[in-house]
Amino acid sequence: MFDNLSNRIDRALKNIKGEGSISEINVASTVKEIRRALLEADVNFKVAKEITNEIREQALGQNILIDVKPGQLFTKIVSDKLTELMGSEMVPFTPTGNPATVLIAGLQGSGKTTFTGKLGLRLKKQGKQVLLVAADVYRPAAIDQLETLGEQTGVEVYTERENKNPVSIAENAVKYAKENGKSIVVVDTAGRLAIDEQMMDEIEAVKKAINPSETLFVVDSMTGQDAVNTAKTFNDRLDFDGVVLTKLDGDTRGGAALSIRRVVEKPIKFISTGEKLENTLDEFYPERMAQRILGMGDVVSLVERAQEAFDEEEARRLNKKLRKNQFDFNDLLSQIQHIKKMGDLKDLIGMVPGLNKMVKDQEIDSDAFKPVEAIIQSMTPYEKANPDSLDQSRKKRLATGSGTSVQQVNNLIKQFEEMRKMMRKVNKMSGIPGMGKKGG
Ligand code: GDP
Repeated sequence: MFDNLSNRIDRALKNIKGEGSISEINVASTVKEIRRALLEADVNFKVAKEITNEIREQALGQNILIDVKPGQLFTKIVSDKLTELMGSEMVPFTPTGNPATVLIAGLQGSGKTTFTGKLGLRLKKQGKQVLLVAADVYRPAAIDQLETLGEQTGVEVYTERENKNPVSIAENAVKYAKENGKSIVVVDTAGRLAIDEQMMDEIEAVKKAINPSETLFVVDSMTGQDAVNTAKTFNDRLDFDGVVLTKLDGDTRGGAALSIRRVVEKPIKFISTGEKLENTLDEFYPERMAQRILGMGDVVSLVERAQEAFDEEEARRLNKKLRKNQFDFNDLLSQIQHIKKMGDLKDLIGMVPGLNKMVKDQEIDSDAFKPVEAIIQSMTPYEKANPDSLDQSRKKRLATGSGTSVQQVNNLIKQFEEMRKMMRKVNKMSGIPGMGKKGG
């Protein structure tokens, strides 16, 4: 996710990392690089200018704190700014009412129907009685699609194939839900390829009729600035409650995620990262996203996914070890094995600080970790728990045992050390005086 942006910002920050102190000159050049990175990521021009000005002012205004290097300070400022840009606090999805009603809007192809299916599954897992409603009266295929998603997830789908009036379909669906003990109704509406008046009138009428407790606007993050403009038009008419960003698993540049909040002034509530239904829908936490963009990983989301996919005990154990810097080869191996089961590999790799470097430039598939797994599996229990014990003769034995080379073993150890360093940094970052962690 956002690889180019991450790399560009990383490069910009590298320059200042070697510096002994913050000066106008090094701040100016770093800020310029960051602005360029943001523009290249298709961030709205005005937004990029505003936030880089703010970053500069803040960096120059900081008295250097004891024990805080310019690189660290700057990373923290940028991380805070990106977090702020994306809304600072996580805004939860909290539908209320009996039944609660949710309206889904967006352009055709944005991922609306897929999202509706994923949301249905999520709500069902929370123990809710869910009814999904196919209110796209123009494309019978859209009704079929939602029905298929309903079958796959075991969630009931309401349709009226002969009815061409979305308002009455939505009203009837709510009535049906009341009569059948449903606690939440999610209405998937028709989308067009571009915004047109009739579509806007229609969805406005549906909104008025069912008075949803949450209206969510779904947007394809691959469309960058267009996504932001479409959001603005929809918001003027619908005054929606939150944004759903889809297709963040692709090579999205990041512009939509970074600009939409400031331009539309509505929170991003969910992000979707794949066509699969399981484990591809996450609530949106601005701070975690900022940390991912800065290559600091997103350990918290990873732990949450782990919690979702595996037993709580394991997730709690990992979280504790990460916080205490006790991450060892056992944990790495178990993480790699979990990751392979937990969803889109590329997406998950971005959540573990430094893990992306282990598989860089390789086809990312489940084979990518094979040599790493083989090496770790050749270790004795003592070696796994004590990464520092690996001397030259042990390394040679590992290479032979795993069918790799000593160089591959060395690489793994080096990268593992970098990973641990990165994790320490993430932990430390929350301890900079006056710059406590917010949200997330
Ligand atoms: P709708 O017209 O807005 O209802 O869009 P669909 O839900 O039919 O999605 C359009 C296409 O995008 C389909 O091929 C989906 O499988 C795909 N899609 C939806 N969400 C995601 C996502 O998060 N990631 C990826 N890679 N594809 C997605």
